[in-house]
Amino acid sequence: MPPAKSPHSILNTLSKNFLDLIFPIRCLGCQKLKDRYLCSTCFYKFDFNKDYHCLDCQQKTNYQHLCPICQPKSTWHLQACLSPYSYRHPLVQNMVEQFKYRFIKNLGEVMAQKMTDYLSFLANHGLVNLQASALTSIPLHSDRLRWRGFNQSHLLAQTIADQTGLPCREILTRVKNTPPQAQIATAHDRKENLKSAFMIKSDSTPIPQSIILIDDVATTGATLNEAARVLKGQGVKKVIALTFAVGK
Ligand SMILES: [Zn+2]
Ligand SMILES: [Zn+2]
Repeated sequence: MPPAKSPHSILNTLSKNFLDLIFPIRCLGCQKLKDRYLCSTCFYKFDFNKDYHCLDCQQKTNYQHLCPICQPKSTWHLQACLSPYSYRHPLVQNMVEQFKYRFIKNLGEVMAQKMTDYLSFLANHGLVNLQASALTSIPLHSDRLRWRGFNQSHLLAQTIADQTGLPCREILTRVKNTPPQAQIATAHDRKENLKSAFMIKSDSTPIPQSIILIDDVATTGATLNEAARVLKGQGVKKVIALTFAVGK
């Protein structure tokens, strides 16, 4: 006999059923009424992007968004920039917008699963080494966190940590409330916008030597690169970026 449900879980089920009745969930892939935002059929059909371009010189690369020529340049503090999807894909764009601007937190689970799968795929093929790595997320300024109610990057990092078993640490804090990078036209202004935006949290020592920096989207890579610069300033040896999508 199954164990009796607690009043709390009965209440949860009731309120979920009630919410499903008012706001039925449609799969963002096939538009059919489902119990999740990307049904299992669409989830497995949703294959990784195979078209990689360097964020700097736009050259085609094998599996990531920094080419072997640009990556060693002093302007890049990231060792690699990995994303399973291109933001140009309509489904990807829709998922990010629903997650970030329509506050559908549950989508984070699907996105994180795809990021985990991608990371495992690269690790299994010897393209990344995750040994002794910890995950951390791009922080939101406290004003924006209050407005959105959750930090989408932290939610992704936490879920990926649960799925991979890698530790998730909150290391950075955002001390400047900057306008979104995507709204800024030139590379110079984007760099200026981020100046002194991040600091290391006082209670985050010792800081792991190898970090996987998580964000939802990499547009030009400038935000991730600035966070990597701050981490490396604290003695971190290796910083890899992992985002759900890349591009404008
Ligand atoms: Zn579907
Ligand atoms: Zn390049």
